[in-house]
Amino acid sequence: TPFEKASFKDFENIPGSDMYETANHFNQYLDYLKKNDRLNYRLESTTTCGPRMDLRMPGERAPRTYVALVSNDYLGFTQHPKIKAAVIGGIERFGAGSGASPAIGGHFSFHQQLEDKIAAFFHRDAAILYTTGYTANSATFQCLLKKEDVAIVDMEVHASIYEGCQLTNLKMFPHNNLERLERQLKEAQHQFRTKMVIIDGVYSQNGDLALVKDILLLCRKYGAYLAIDDAHGVGVIGKTGRGVLEADNLFQDVDIMTGTLSKTFANVGGYVVASPELVRYLKFQSKQHLFSVTATPATLGIMKAIDLIDEEPHWRDRLWENIRYLKTGLIALGLDIGKTASAVIPVKIGDPAKTGVVGKLLLDRGVYANPIMYPAVAKKDARIRMSVMATHTREDLDTVLNAFEEIDRIVPISKH
Ligand code: PMP
Repeated sequence: TPFEKASFKDFENIPGSDMYETANHFNQYLDYLKKNDRLNYRLESTTTCGPRMDLRMPGERAPRTYVALVSNDYLGFTQHPKIKAAVIGGIERFGAGSGASPAIGGHFSFHQQLEDKIAAFFHRDAAILYTTGYTANSATFQCLLKKEDVAIVDMEVHASIYEGCQLTNLKMFPHNNLERLERQLKEAQHQFRTKMVIIDGVYSQNGDLALVKDILLLCRKYGAYLAIDDAHGVGVIGKTGRGVLEADNLFQDVDIMTGTLSKTFANVGGYVVASPELVRYLKFQSKQHLFSVTATPATLGIMKAIDLIDEEPHWRDRLWENIRYLKTGLIALGLDIGKTASAVIPVKIGDPAKTGVVGKLLLDRGVYANPIMYPAVAKKDARIRMSVMATHTREDLDTVLNAFEEIDRIVPISKH
C-alpha cells in the first residue's frame, strides 16, 4: 500500500493540497495505522501516567492494568503526598489559575521565589520560567539567535531546540561526534556574530549523556557559547540530582541551561538558567514569557519537589537500583540497549515495522512501552523506549523482562 513506508513527516506539507485535503490524506494514513495495529499514540489512561496504568484500548470498553514505562516522572513525585499537599495548599491560598501574563499582573511572589529557587538549585543567580520545557527552548533560542548568528546543534537534540533555531543559521553535527563539531566550529568561527553550540544533557531517545566537558573545551577554543537542555538529567543524574553538569561542577561554565518542570519536578512548565543580564533580557524580550499566562498556583508543588530532591535522596537510590536491575536483565537477554546511562532505556530493534509488532506484543503481555520511529529517530534505528521510575517494583520489572524473553522467541530481536 502507498502508506507502508510513510511517516508523519510526509504529511507536513503535501504539494498542491490545501489544509483540508492535507488533513484528510493524513487521516487516511492514521486509519491505515489503526487498522494494522500500528497506531499506539494517545492511548487513553484512566488512572495516572505512572509505573502501572489502567489503559482503555481502542475498541475495548473496560480498561486493563499495564506495567508502564512511559512516564518521565522519574522519582514518582507526581504521587508524593507532600507534593500533592503543597499543590493543594497553593490552590487553596491563591486560586485555581494565575489570571494574566507576567507583563500585566500574573507575576506572583511564588513565581519569583521559584525562579530564585531554581537558580540556586543550580548554583547560579538567575532563572526565568516558561509555560513548558518546549517553550523554554523554542522561545529562548528564537530570542537570542538571529540571522547574523549560528546555532550548531547535536543532531539528536529535542524538537523544541530545532524550533528555536528557525530565525538563525542552523548547523548540525552527528550525535556526540567531537570531530564533526570541531569542523563546524572552525567553519563558523569568523563567519557569524553569536555562535552557540546546543546540546541535550541526557538524550531523550538513547538515554546516553552529552560529552559536556569535551564540548565545552571546543566551544572555548573557537569562541562559541554553550547551551544545554538537561530535561532528562535533572533529578536523576549526579550525586545530588543536579543533572549532567554536577559531576564536573560545570554550572558556571555553560551559558544557558534549559529544563522542564514536567519530569522530575512533577508539574508543568519550563525554565532557563543563565547570567542575570541574559535572564533580564529574556524577561522583557521573550514574547512567549512576557505575553503568556504564568503557571498556576499548583507551582507550589514544584518548590516542594525541589526540596525533596535534597531531603529524600532515597528516591534517587531506588531509581538507580531499578535502572541497574532492568539493564542487567535486558543485557542478559542479549538485547541491544545502546549506551544508556540514565533512566531512559532503549531496546534497539532497527526495522520500524518489527518495532511496531514488538510494541503490540508487549501490550498483549501487559507491558506499555513506546515504539519510537522516524522522524523521532533515524529510519533504520527504530526502538522500544522505556523510562524507569523509582516506584517500579521488582515484580513490574520482571514482567517486562519476561515479556521480552517471550517476544524474542516469536520475533527475534536479541543477539542470542
Ligand atoms: N527537552 C527535552 C530533552 C525533552 O525530552 C522534552 C520533553 N519530552 C522537552 C524538552 C519538553 O519539555 P515539556 O514536556 O515540559 O514541554
